[in-house]
Amino acid sequence: MKASDLNLKESLNFDPTNGKITLGNSRMVLFGVEAFGELYQELLNIGDLPAARVVMRRFGAANGRERARTVKQEFQPADKMEWLAFGPTLHTWEGVGLPKLASLEYDGASTFNLVVEFRHSYLAEEFLRKIGPASEPVCWQLAGYIGGYCSEVFGLNLFCRETTCIAKGDPCCTFICKPQDEWL
Ligand SMILES: [Zn+2]
Repeated sequence: MKASDLNLKESLNFDPTNGKITLGNSRMVLFGVEAFGELYQELLNIGDLPAARVVMRRFGAANGRERARTVKQEFQPADKMEWLAFGPTLHTWEGVGLPKLASLEYDGASTFNLVVEFRHSYLAEEFLRKIGPASEPVCWQLAGYIGGYCSEVFGLNLFCRETTCIAKGDPCCTFICKPQDEWL
């Protein structure tokens, strides 16, 4: 299947008899985004900003890797580029925001540089609502997700960092994903 043919309304299986929603073999849950504002607040209450960043990033990376495996199993994309395309398409359908692939350099081996411009990030909106303007990008879960998803697709050790963020007043959130050792 092509990413552009995805219709999540048809792919999700709602099973209220058993209290489950599934996408293939992967169980999903629906819950209100306001809980994420509370989660940010609690993480900052019990730790500091770097600790909150690490927790959310790792959560996102696990989520991204799992979602990439589900896409491969359920939709069998024809190649890596099509597999990659399911990432932003799913994010759009899931309601987390509106990602746009701004650029991609990939040579089929270890050269990889992906730039995503992301509008309507639910995390940036929740951070602003609950905590207020941020001094650094705060969509750590999305950065983790993009890095995890791309690492799984391309078989590379990729790391994604957010460089601009709506929560700190930028016009959109920008994510750059490239090999981990290139960030050092
Ligand atoms: Zn952001």
